Amino acid sequence: MKTELLISSRASLEKAREYILSDNVVAFHTETVYGLGANAFSDRAVQKIFALKGRPADNPLIAHVHRDFDISSLVDKVPQYAAVLKNAFLPGPLTMVFPSTGKVSRYVSCGLNTLAIRVPSSQTAQEFLKKVDLPIAAPSANRSKHVSPVTAQHVYRDFTDEIPLILDGGACEGGIESTVLDCTGAVPQILREGLVTCEMIASVVGSCKVYKSKPNERPKSPGMAYKHYAPSCKTAYFTIDELESALKIYSEEAERGGVPYLIAERKIADEFSQKGLNVFDFGLTGEEMAQNLYALLRQAETVSTLLICVEPTLRGGVMAGVMNRLTRAFGIGEKTE
Ligand code: AMP
Ligand code: MG
Repeated sequence: MKTELLISSRASLEKAREYILSDNVVAFHTETVYGLGANAFSDRAVQKIFALKGRPADNPLIAHVHRDFDISSLVDKVPQYAAVLKNAFLPGPLTMVFPSTGKVSRYVSCGLNTLAIRVPSSQTAQEFLKKVDLPIAAPSANRSKHVSPVTAQHVYRDFTDEIPLILDGGACEGGIESTVLDCTGAVPQILREGLVTCEMIASVVGSCKVYKSKPNERPKSPGMAYKHYAPSCKTAYFTIDELESALKIYSEEAERGGVPYLIAERKIADEFSQKGLNVFDFGLTGEEMAQNLYALLRQAETVSTLLICVEPTLRGGVMAGVMNRLTRAFGIGEKTE
């Protein structure tokens, strides 16, 4: 099969619909990262996603729907606060988890009695979801454990000629995956941090918690147990206090004939770039770092033999989500499979 990269048009959307109705997968742009989508009602289609990605069978998928889709057939017991959050943040990078009615394929939620629902704001995603008018189960469109894709070319590199179509909407402006919010309790609880922050949710509905799994406990969001987002080159991570050690490792790698790169926030990146070191500028704000993260990790794979990340000093807001992805990309304090 040849993989086509097409922008959203009447003809490409019609093709996408045909692929989805015949249980094939279609990759599509969203405002967070690219998704690998299949008909959520079809066992066969959903299983294809797991096979293509090499995704562990206990890591559930998010069902994506267009803005006018009636979700009452898919989930029930939607609390009042969720209706308020929907008005405040959707369409947008917020996924909400509710008790499932069991209508979608059992492979979507991997045996959980809940279903995660997302309404993406990307125009390409909305046009695609409207055209199919079905819930589309979609994880990020990368091989399991690889860096998430933020351009159509990233998707193409992971799945060349294994999927028929990528709906190309350009670069993803958000850059990290959606916030996953458990809406089954009295108070909303964040299972995965993202661009919609705890502070933003609390400011609209009064309170919000962030779930932290305890050692040896199966996390409420199973995906969080896996080492993720890892670039295929060698990596090392240093706190800001360990800058000297980072530079020593850099020199040793360069002396061995390797091509080390430092990834650091703007101030440090500028300083080291002036000294002639290879650097990737992570950015200045949390939003910039979120947007740059996966693009830099993917770029690093093509140029570096060693990628050294220096911990950003910025905290608060979106940085919680950025730090979560960083520590998991560099394998810090995480269980591997
Ligand atoms: P991905 O689609 O690769 O961005 O991953 C989806 C994330 O949503 C993973 O971390 C999953 O564990 C989480 N997720 C999906 N469905 C559920 C659910 N029903 N309950 C809790 N977490 C979920
Ligand atoms: Mg993913």
